[in-house]
Amino acid sequence: MFPGIPTCVEVSQEVTDYLEGDLPAWRRALTRMHLLGCSACRELVRQFTLVKGAVAGVPPAADDALAQDTRQDLLAHFAGGAPDEPDP
Ligand SMILES: [Zn+2]
Repeated sequence: MFPGIPTCVEVSQEVTDYLEGDLPAWRRALTRMHLLGCSACRELVRQFTLVKGAVAGVPPAADDALAQDTRQDLLAHFAGGAPDEPDP
């Protein structure tokens, strides 16, 4: 039995696999055929593509780590005594 073009529900369930290239070639081809005739699913794929790009573009939380290091340096500095303290 040869499966037909997937429904909108099936496309929405498989959209991540479709974008990741995890669908079998025949399934991918049928999904593309569905997308050709379905603007709603094309929009869905477009939005998933945007979300994927946004997630991939987020840098690691380097700023937080840097702020923590700076805070610890300052704490260590102040714990060692004030440098401007006048000599007796
Ligand atoms: Zn559809």
